[in-house]
Amino acid sequence: MKIPWAGDRCIICLLLKPFTVEHIIPESLGGKLTCSFLCRDCNSRLGAEIDHTAKTDPRIRQAAMALSSTNPDLLRAINDGQIFNTNQGLQFKAKGGTLKVRPKKNADGSLIQANEDAKRTLARIMEKAGKSKAFVESRLEAYENAPAGILIQLMPDLAVKKSKSAEINLFPGGDPMHSTLLLKIAYEFIALHLGNTIYHDDPPLVMLRAALTDFKEPYPFVELYTAKQKRRGLFHGLAFEGNSPVARVQIRLFETLAYRVNFPMLAVDGPRCGYHLDLATGDERLMDLDKKLSYKFPA
Ligand SMILES: [Zn+2]
Repeated sequence: MKIPWAGDRCIICLLLKPFTVEHIIPESLGGKLTCSFLCRDCNSRLGAEIDHTAKTDPRIRQAAMALSSTNPDLLRAINDGQIFNTNQGLQFKAKGGTLKVRPKKNADGSLIQANEDAKRTLARIMEKAGKSKAFVESRLEAYENAPAGILIQLMPDLAVKKSKSAEINLFPGGDPMHSTLLLKIAYEFIALHLGNTIYHDDPPLVMLRAALTDFKEPYPFVELYTAKQKRRGLFHGLAFEGNSPVARVQIRLFETLAYRVNFPMLAVDGPRCGYHLDLATGDERLMDLDKKLSYKFPA
């Protein structure tokens, strides 16, 4: 859903520069709500430093696991390139729908590698020790045919053990999202509501734009809370919840993950409104939350 924008300046730097299409919920999470109200510089700076961190956040990735039955393609795209941890201290990286163990050196000098990499390493060690090609091939064959879990002695000082990855419990690893990401989403949603008023020089708006320009300090007015599951299906949602006493935006990701962003000193006119994206069907809608009717932002 693309929301039209009547303003002529970037809503963050306020400069009169050509607009680019901005995804309000990051596209990497399947977000589809867009508006052309950021300049290219602000869009690429925020994209490079903030948006991409949504995909690495373990909490978001854990919530995204619910996509496995409703939208496995999106789940695969979210996981691609990302890290999984295990209880055994191993790490796996997802690539093209498969998982590959990341090499790890243990304290006892042993090395953990993916099967194909391990075979190359073993061959190299045996060749370096002066073993013949036939010897190396026969030892690798013995390794290939051995069951998992037993130690296979390839040379007097070289042994190898296979593990079955199916027996390993995986859970999402990676770094938490950039703290400014939620502010960015909420500010952009409020901008749709405010229209040209977003350009005003009121101190709260100046402070928000500063936080989105120099985003080194975490934005402090964000709460994480557990949302009630209504089991209406997996969705992303945004809502302007009104002023109580300050303007407040709720961000829901994958139904269960819920954040509230508060805007100190800022009160916003207009009805409480919400956006809903069904992650199974791709259907989007905007609602007036009080009248329970469909809604359009003021042009
Ligand atoms: Zn800009």
